Amino acid sequence: MKIYADNAATTPMSRTAIDAMTRCMEEQYGNPSSLYSLGQEAKEILERAREDVAGVIGAEPREIVFTSGGSEADNQALRSGAALGKRAGKMHIISTAFEHHAVLHTLKALEKEGFEGTLLPVHEDGLVRPEELEAAIRDDTCLVTIMFANNEIGTIQPIRELGAICRRRGVLFHTDAVQAMGHLPIDVNADNVDMLSASAHKFHGPKGVGFLYARKGVRLTNLIEGGAQERSKRAGTENVPAIVGMAAALKEAAANREKNAEHMRVLRDRLIAGLGEIPHAALNGDAVRRLPGNVNFCFEGIEGESLLLLLDDRGICASSGSACTSGSLDPSHVLLAIGRKHDVAHGSLRLTIAEDATEEEIDYMIRNVKEVVEYLRGFSPVWRDLMSGKSQFIL
Ligand SMILES: *Cc1c(COP(=O)(O)O)cnc(C)c1O
Repeated sequence: MKIYADNAATTPMSRTAIDAMTRCMEEQYGNPSSLYSLGQEAKEILERAREDVAGVIGAEPREIVFTSGGSEADNQALRSGAALGKRAGKMHIISTAFEHHAVLHTLKALEKEGFEGTLLPVHEDGLVRPEELEAAIRDDTCLVTIMFANNEIGTIQPIRELGAICRRRGVLFHTDAVQAMGHLPIDVNADNVDMLSASAHKFHGPKGVGFLYARKGVRLTNLIEGGAQERSKRAGTENVPAIVGMAAALKEAAANREKNAEHMRVLRDRLIAGLGEIPHAALNGDAVRRLPGNVNFCFEGIEGESLLLLLDDRGICASSGSACTSGSLDPSHVLLAIGRKHDVAHGSLRLTIAEDATEEEIDYMIRNVKEVVEYLRGFSPVWRDLMSGKSQFIL
């Protein structure tokens, strides 16, 4: 059996998105800035894609800027919020300890430029507390950036409530919605969001394309200077096929969202229940307030890396921590942020399923993870010490 269970890292493209892109590459290859009809046709489908994307999140088309993906959108959102703050003499930015590195590393860069960052704690359930945001906001806070749903443990933040606090206090609010887009209901107005990032390859669109939503009146800072594309906010000839593919994938995901989510939640809970039978194992993050396809466990006494390699031998594509940190020996900053100890955080496993997952696949994963964990513990010195009482179990 071959099972792709790493949909939080990237998703396979949908047939709809591939067809839309192919048609665009074969027939609508003009430059949207050209005046002849082939160019204007490209311009038309570009603007239709913008309307489609905006429609899904309750935005206006002019509030959407197409980018090269989630990382670029996050960078531009943070740089824009910071620049607006600086002009008003406000240099304080609030985020959380478990954001994606596209946010955390941009924040670090801004700190080198004189900004001050505060990272809100994330509690054991993988959630931030609105009252802690309220308490952290100062007179000189210019921007709050908190992710909609976490890419490792899948927990869903109370975005509407957090946004309401920011609105009341007159602070710009950005959310990295890369994991949420296409999977959760999002309405930028009801959710009190000023800026939002998304990436196509996380919802069955192509890689290398995404978008930044910026509320009318929020002045964006350019990361790329050049031509007047994207209302002069992002220069460079538009990647029309990718943008068209993204819009097709998002429209499809939005149209089937509830049906897909219901199916995935049932299978997710079956997988959580099955893996929960493994001794000295624990689910990471809240069991209910999590993405429909996300399962993330820590197993005591093993290394996540060995687990992944053995699961790969059995046809299962899984992940330990995030793709960005694999290859390094540091445990996931997300698991550390929710209070997991280093040793335990090393033994983590993330399985992220998609809407086409089946019960047979879930049961195959349960059976094989159980076997591999038991096998690895069989010759783990850490496990031996735990069993002999030389060291204490944490989980
Ligand atoms: C994948 C991801 C990103 C980065 O998106 P890219 O399009 O790969 O640059 C940012 N934030 C989160 C939460 C993600 O999951």
